[in-house]
Amino acid sequence: MLDIDCCSGQDSMFHLFLHFLVPLLVAYLCFTKNWKVAYVIMMSTMLVDLDHLLATPIYSPTRCSIGFHPLHQPGLIILYLVLCFVPKTRLVGLGLSIHMALDAIDCQFMTS
Ligand SMILES: [Zn+2]
Repeated sequence: MLDIDCCSGQDSMFHLFLHFLVPLLVAYLCFTKNWKVAYVIMMSTMLVDLDHLLATPIYSPTRCSIGFHPLHQPGLIILYLVLCFVPKTRLVGLGLSIHMALDAIDCQFMTS
C-alpha cells in the first residue's frame, strides 16, 4: 500500500515535470528567436486543466483526464490540433496538443 502511494505520487510529479519540460524544448528548438514568448503562451494553455475543478475529487492519480474532463474531450483535441495549422493560434494549439498528448501518454501507463 505504501509503495503504491509513493510511486504513483512520483509518477504524477514526473508527469507534471513533462508538462513544463516538453513545451520548453519545443519553444527553444522551434521558436529560437522568440522562445520565451512562445514558452509563456504554451504554458498559459495549462489553464485547460481548470476543468479539473469541476470534478470530484479535483485530482485523482488513477483517473485518465482524456475523455473525462470537459476540455479534454476527443472532439476538442481535434480542434486543438487544427489550431496548430492557423498561424495566429499556432502556439495555443501547440501548447494544448502537447498537453493532451502528455495526458494521453499518462493514461497509457495507468491502464497497463
Ligand atoms: Zn490535462
